[in-house]
Amino acid sequence: MPPATPSHRARRGAVLLDRDGVLNHDPGDYTTCLAEFHILPGVLDTLKAWHDAGFKLIVITNQGGIAKGRYTHADVAVIHAHLREVASAHGAPIADILYSPHHPDFGQSLSRKPGSLLVERALARHNLDPKKCWMFGDKARDIDCAWGAGVSHGILIEPNAPISNWQSLPLGKGA
Ligand SMILES: [Mg+2]
Repeated sequence: MPPATPSHRARRGAVLLDRDGVLNHDPGDYTTCLAEFHILPGVLDTLKAWHDAGFKLIVITNQGGIAKGRYTHADVAVIHAHLREVASAHGAPIADILYSPHHPDFGQSLSRKPGSLLVERALARHNLDPKKCWMFGDKARDIDCAWGAGVSHGILIEPNAPISNWQSLPLGKGA
């Protein structure tokens, strides 16, 4: 029997999450700084439940406000460091956060949802099986970007709706 190599490792599942309106309250405009970043009720418990079920937790987010000059990569880094810290402290470490800084007013990018590039990157980087992955978003483009990468399980929620409604949904096992 050949030794196990990375290509032979069983591919994991992941819950892929939009950020604004799913993890944190989206006021309908950009979240420009940490002071405006408020994690929605029940989110951390839900992330922990999915993590405990063996799913990696990966955030895929459009941040076109960067292209518009509303905030900077550094502002986003502060928010994401905070999100990672809070989630880890709650027993729900976030494996990755991928964001697209582009906006069609200033240029096209395949990384901006509904483009599938960031989902494809996450699948490759984390050795994920798209059939074991779920995408949560509050816009059709969130679901479409995952579909384009072969992730057919998509759950579209209302903006700022509690994802805890799906905490006990039989997503299966991520491992
Ligand atoms: Mg959103």
